[in-house]
Amino acid sequence: MGSDFELITDSNGSPGILFIDKGGKKVNVGNSLSDFNIEKKLGEGNFGSVSLVTSKITKKLYAMKEIKVSRYRSQKQFFQIKKEIKLLENIHHPHVITYFTSFIENNNFYIITEYINGGNLENLIRKNLKQDKNIEERKVWELLIESLSGLLYLHETKKIIHRDIKPDNLLIDLEGHLQITDFGVSAINEEDVDEFLKCHGTVAGPIDFMSPEMALGRYYDFKSDIYMLGLTFLNILSKELPER
Ligand code: ADP
Ligand code: MG
Repeated sequence: MGSDFELITDSNGSPGILFIDKGGKKVNVGNSLSDFNIEKKLGEGNFGSVSLVTSKITKKLYAMKEIKVSRYRSQKQFFQIKKEIKLLENIHHPHVITYFTSFIENNNFYIITEYINGGNLENLIRKNLKQDKNIEERKVWELLIESLSGLLYLHETKKIIHRDIKPDNLLIDLEGHLQITDFGVSAINEEDVDEFLKCHGTVAGPIDFMSPEMALGRYYDFKSDIYMLGLTFLNILSKELPER
């Protein structure tokens, strides 16, 4: 098998952009804002906004996450964004989001990933709640199997602890299949977690889905992701979500 990666240079000779799709095929989707048309906003979270974009090169749809560097002035946060990009570059799994490219422009970070067209699991749960409907038990099993398969790949193959598994970080495509996304606070392997805990003491962000050891700022490992996934699925089955 050949390398999954290819380092190319753009028209200005800037190196370091990798183009890969799910099958490992290299695709140039663009490497600056001018290569994309912004269609609409898909979501807003702790780390920036996400828009639906069309590549002028491939004419296909992608998701573009914009992270305002000015909002994240500390070195720690800058390091975290760079780490999210680094983690994404190496991931190829049917139930984990596919990364295409990233670039810095106008003092913002832009990350281009595949577009998942069915919203996130939190939206799905809330939609069902409103209509007083249940997600079929068989569908819940399928989603659980798919998320476990993605999580197992992250843990066993990539040694990545996701650390932010929750319904709005699990995306659903139109065929109803699941993809894990948002590596904003992920860490690679346990030494890295030790490092992280040394730096941070406690973990930032909402504690709705956090494992007790994470919320208390204690040592945690891959099991925290499993706890958070369990809580996510308990929420689906009990149809209870944290207040927003
Ligand atoms: P944050 O770090 O701000 O939480 P996320 O990556 O979780 O950012 O994205 C926020 C929201 O944007 C998600 O919950 C989802 O609704 C939407 N979104 C993110 N990525 C995609 C994508 N690739 N395809 C479709 N929607 C997406
Ligand atoms: Mg998120």
